[in-house]
Amino acid sequence: MATVLTFLGTGGGRHTTMFQARSTGGFLLDAGKGTVHVDPGPGALTNMCGIRYDLRKTDAIIVSHCHPDHYSDAACAIEGMTYGGWVKRGAFYGTESVISGHDGLGPCMSSYHLSIPEKTATIKAGDVLDICGMETEITEADHSDPCNVGFRFNTPDGIVSYVSDTAYSDRIAEQYIGSRVLLLPVTTPDDNRIAGHLCTDDAIDFVRRVRPELTVLIHLGIVMLKHDENAQAEKAEKATRCRVMAGRDLMRLTIGDSITIEDLEASRPDWSPAWDL
Ligand SMILES: [Zn+2]
Ligand SMILES: [Zn+2]
Repeated sequence: MATVLTFLGTGGGRHTTMFQARSTGGFLLDAGKGTVHVDPGPGALTNMCGIRYDLRKTDAIIVSHCHPDHYSDAACAIEGMTYGGWVKRGAFYGTESVISGHDGLGPCMSSYHLSIPEKTATIKAGDVLDICGMETEITEADHSDPCNVGFRFNTPDGIVSYVSDTAYSDRIAEQYIGSRVLLLPVTTPDDNRIAGHLCTDDAIDFVRRVRPELTVLIHLGIVMLKHDENAQAEKAEKATRCRVMAGRDLMRLTIGDSITIEDLEASRPDWSPAWDL
């Protein structure tokens, strides 16, 4: 067995999202005991269709915070997980802003969609949960949605961490020490810092503290793409002497003794056996 991570999107920030310069569908993670879909933003459904992923195979859905690049496809992903709302199954996890609303932000899910999974839970930093058989530690973030959190997924193949949108501090970075694979949202290039997000220079500080086996830059903003995200990843790799790469939509990591990387081909099927209800 190995742990499989499939990127349904590697974009982020409002301009990349509104133009879909990169997809923003989050990622699927399967460590052998079920599949969790994290942050199903715009493009998630289209990409799952394109790679013939059957949404009924999803066992849990997480929305880290109440920004549309992280949640807009979540209601349909819940309908998929619950066989169109007919079968009470799966779990939905969201932060307070996502589920109840917080300080004028959210909620972003309807009470109907929160009612159809078998389990719905509000998460906050410090929680430790079992999600699809993985001990999952919820970490702190520093973002414009104050409820936002990050994640350390303890898989049999090492810790896979998802640092959701955050500003840099040593304290935030140190939460991820011990990670084998680090998914790092780097919205802007070089020292082009915007509030509540990481730029490449922040990513360099982050990776120096954590020193994971592989760092994947995700949540790529439009200026990051214009400056060539691959060149930015190379800059971070040179500065840290750790392996850093820019994520690609529909890239798949298979994490076992080693980490292998492939790019899936997407095409919309004329007909799929999954549609034969
Ligand atoms: Zn975002
Ligand atoms: Zn955000």
